[in-house]
Amino acid sequence: MTVLSDRINNLAESATIKMSKLGRELAAKGVDVISLSLGETDFYTPDFVKSAAKEAIDQNYSYYTPVTGYPDLRKAIAAKLKRENNLEYGIDQIVVSTGAKQALANVIMCLINPGDEVIIPTPYWVSYSELVKLAEGESVFINTSIESDFKITPEELEAVITPKSKLFMFSSPNNPTGTVYTRDELAALVKVFEKHPEIYIISDEIYEHINFIGKHTSIAEFESIKDRVIVINGLSKAYAMTGWRLGYSASNKEIAAACDKLQSQITSGTCSITQRAAIAAYEGGLDTVHEMKEVFLRRRDLVYSLLKDIDGLKVNLPGGAFYFFPDVSSFFGKVSDDGEVIKDADDLALYLLNKGHVATVSGDAFGDPKSIRLSYAAADDKLVEAIKRIKSALAQLKDGKPVPAV
Ligand code: PMP
Ligand code: GLU
Repeated sequence: MTVLSDRINNLAESATIKMSKLGRELAAKGVDVISLSLGETDFYTPDFVKSAAKEAIDQNYSYYTPVTGYPDLRKAIAAKLKRENNLEYGIDQIVVSTGAKQALANVIMCLINPGDEVIIPTPYWVSYSELVKLAEGESVFINTSIESDFKITPEELEAVITPKSKLFMFSSPNNPTGTVYTRDELAALVKVFEKHPEIYIISDEIYEHINFIGKHTSIAEFESIKDRVIVINGLSKAYAMTGWRLGYSASNKEIAAACDKLQSQITSGTCSITQRAAIAAYEGGLDTVHEMKEVFLRRRDLVYSLLKDIDGLKVNLPGGAFYFFPDVSSFFGKVSDDGEVIKDADDLALYLLNKGHVATVSGDAFGDPKSIRLSYAAADDKLVEAIKRIKSALAQLKDGKPVPAV
């Protein structure tokens, strides 16, 4: 038997990827599964981006690239940050990586020593706490709930800060809740960070363009803390390019140089063809992104009206991204036709997959064991059918013994 490292034995598999795998396995057996599990748009990559990639192949962009990305790509990203976010960064502050996921991993590995505390509001994207674990840091969670629209207050932030706090990490718009912090709410958090100059802030802005409440605000826009903010973003969501694998970090120069060194030993530069396509994406304007957002807004309203109609679900109205994160705790303790007790959100997600043939993700991996996540990045007819199935599967659950509150 192979003895694996403690590092890998202690790591959880990504729950989003695991659920989509289970859904695919069931579908391969001939079951008509609707997948609302993976956070991936159902749009195609824009044609002008695809053309740039085809040209790059023909022009023989087939060699290793600089580890941090082609200079003209980093220039295009710096111009995007200025134009869309009013943020000034030099190209030596930008590191292009194999997805925003790697950009996050780079920064966490470069900042966190064993025992350092990383403050993460819950619910959070599944990989945050696992990446902290890989770096041997300690995640310190601030729990939020549907009642506060899944937002933290400055007081709650202040209360968890200790001499070991090194990093704060969040996404707005948020995955999995869709919650968007307003400029005023961010300003109030900034006041706390101003008092604690030893804390760095990862601002994951991958859903910035899927925002229904107004213009996106980056916490890096606050000059007093900008040097300590690391902005994470990428192509996956805005340009429907999940498989192309390109993300980036924008940070102070020391962090960027550290990420460069780390990446030089782990992956080198990301795919050359994807990088050339990324230049076209960032220079190509936002028309396709805006069209996509309109579709997501329509779907959000559709899904909201259908979910609200399901007895026992508690739903918030997300301000962005493409997820719902309903509280399903009222179903805990109920029993399926097969006599299985739904103990928690993991059981409920599996029940919905096996009974309703709808793949969702348990909230547990997002740090909220009361909820499940549904992605509405799917066609309208699929969404309507999926929610019909969820409603029917939930209605078939019978009362059982009450389970202790989570
Ligand atoms: N951050 C968040 C909040 C995400 O939902 C995702 C998933 N797409 C990522 C980062 C990673 O994105 P990428 O595909 O660029 O690795
Ligand atoms: N970020 C997406 C999600 O939350 C993609 C899956 C993943 O990278 O974990 O579903």
